[in-house]
Amino acid sequence: MEIYLDNAATTKPCREAVNAAVGCMTENYGNPSSLHSKGLKAQLVTDNVRKIIAKELACPPECVYFTSGATESNNTAILGTAAAHGKRRPKIVTTSVEHASVKAAMNELENRGFEVVRISPDKDGEISHEQIINAVDDRTCLVSMMLVNNETGYILPVRRAFYGIKKKFPQCITHCDAVQGFMKLPVKVNTINADLVSLSAHKIYGCKGVGGLYIRKGVHISGMLFGGGQEKGFRPGTENVPMIAAFGAAVKALSGTIQQRYDEMERLKKLFCQRLESIEGVVVNSGENCSPYIINISVPGIRSEIMLHYLESKEIFVSSGSACSKGAQSGVLTEFGLKPQFADSALRISLCPQNTLSELRVLAETIEEGMRRLVHTK
Ligand code: PMP
Repeated sequence: MEIYLDNAATTKPCREAVNAAVGCMTENYGNPSSLHSKGLKAQLVTDNVRKIIAKELACPPECVYFTSGATESNNTAILGTAAAHGKRRPKIVTTSVEHASVKAAMNELENRGFEVVRISPDKDGEISHEQIINAVDDRTCLVSMMLVNNETGYILPVRRAFYGIKKKFPQCITHCDAVQGFMKLPVKVNTINADLVSLSAHKIYGCKGVGGLYIRKGVHISGMLFGGGQEKGFRPGTENVPMIAAFGAAVKALSGTIQQRYDEMERLKKLFCQRLESIEGVVVNSGENCSPYIINISVPGIRSEIMLHYLESKEIFVSSGSACSKGAQSGVLTEFGLKPQFADSALRISLCPQNTLSELRVLAETIEEGMRRLVHTK
């Protein structure tokens, strides 16, 4: 029996999402821009999903734009803000633990002459909201900060940082990559004081290749694509109706149970960590201020990929770091203060509500078994 514990990389689409996608490929396959009734029906699908997502973010539906995923949302938010406001305000503040799609966009802007300030976690592995606020000045056009780190699950103090920034510099645009938080923690745009929010469907039981970008009314950023009038001309291209429909169905299926699921994941994480404590040599890197959906551990002495493949041979699927870096270290764990032998042996275990305590017990036993066998081959 397979045990899938790599839900931060991607999730298995839920039944509701699959049915919604299939419905838009077999019956409701019109182009939302067509003037006939098939087109209108497809447009009603995308309009409805916009409403479903807007309800969760507590924002007007017209502020939600569909994209090809969070990589595009993050790139658009960052490069689009820089293009619209960077001439007068060529400074950006971010953190050193962002996802590659933020990190690489920041590097690109730096190459184009922007000043990019990256705030690192302190010695306790915490990002200080005060340090973020203090880094912002009247030359800053953008602050970009993720909600939940995809490697450790650390929850960043986005609300406090953005609140402080908006009080001092209301014109500074605030962007949050909320991919690992959306539908797992409450993400309301006004509560977190975000002008721009990036979302991805495949982390929440939707499909790959579709995401969202929230843009606050009155906030102007440049679009990255040129074409027809879809998404009010901001993000042209025929809408990916089946995947958008699946995104909406997945969000709807999760709606109203954020707290209940969070509590259940927390219970699982606690019991799993207690079990891990009994294994000498295993260290849990995801501490107090972390999402219970992600548990990062280290097994010093056994390289991540070695243990990962051992677990895989027993049909248990976990990750080393983030899936996007294909096993290569992103440097994020060392930013969080992990010594090389801990970063080299890190495993990311990421949960979904279908995971059970008995699966986590099997994982712990298999890690223990792996430690006995692999230690000789390191
Ligand atoms: N941001 C974070 C925090 C992520 O975890 C991911 C996915 N690994 C992305 C952005 C990119 O999302 P997508 O796969 O939809 O491009």
